Amino acid sequence: MPEVYLNGAFVPAEQARVSVMDRGFLFADGVYEVIPAYGGRPLREAAHLARLSNSLRGIRLPEPLSHTEWADVFRRLLAGTAGIDQAIYLQVTRGAAAVRDHRFPAEVGPTLFAMTRPLAPRDPALSERGVAAIVREDIRWGRCDIKSVALLAAVLLRQEAAEADAEEAILVRGGLITEGATSNVFIVLQGALFTPPKGRQLLAGITRALVLELARGAGIGCEERPIDLPMLRSADEVWLTSSTREVMPVTHLDDRPVGTARPGPLWRRMNALYQELKGSLQRSVDDPI
Ligand code: PMP
Repeated sequence: MPEVYLNGAFVPAEQARVSVMDRGFLFADGVYEVIPAYGGRPLREAAHLARLSNSLRGIRLPEPLSHTEWADVFRRLLAGTAGIDQAIYLQVTRGAAAVRDHRFPAEVGPTLFAMTRPLAPRDPALSERGVAAIVREDIRWGRCDIKSVALLAAVLLRQEAAEADAEEAILVRGGLITEGATSNVFIVLQGALFTPPKGRQLLAGITRALVLELARGAGIGCEERPIDLPMLRSADEVWLTSSTREVMPVTHLDDRPVGTARPGPLWRRMNALYQELKGSLQRSVDDPI
């Protein structure tokens, strides 16, 4: 039975319990992070923790642990994973008060939770077939830059995608692409890479930032700019990025082919750069930290 972290203790997952009065349960009053770890090493840990701080600030919840303390929690959770690549999940809620009241409770400590699970191995067919996506209206709230556990809109959109045999729902607000229900979106148009600019309408993905960095490092032209639906529909390539999906090529959009309906040449290049970065973490598993 794997151990999870709950409020300062490491306990078997089966024994970990949270109160029914927890505001995460009653109000979705909390934030979370998902951090991939390769060879026992979290990828871009500092960036994930900086985003956690940003989410906590966004919901006016004081930082319950320092970044160093979080890093210690991750190390302990990863210690038993024998080098199998993992996704660390952490969640902080405003805690459990005696009464259900929307207003912040006084003198209630937050609930802290973290666990790790193996990352699903990449489907080898991905680089031949890619995945399908559907396009839907972005029905989420106005602070999508906060990684909130209030995920009902994402749940409904992802389920709609699944029922359409698609991997993801790509979202449109006011005629502009925001992101996927659980990922960021990139398009390739005439050899250049575009992704919507950061703002309150989308989550500043750590993978998104990494892809921009890798592109710039490799001399691939890329620009953060608004993308409208006609641009998406006429793109030569469409990618989804997230910590668990890495860089995923979309080859069908609402049952219509994207470009040649095969993962494109720029995706192959970016994927190679991304795999190289992952490999360098995996290979360094025996190095001293
Ligand atoms: N947008 C949303 C709405 C997400 O849920 C995710 C995945 N957490 C992302 C973008 C991608 O973020 P990251 O690359 O940091 O995983």
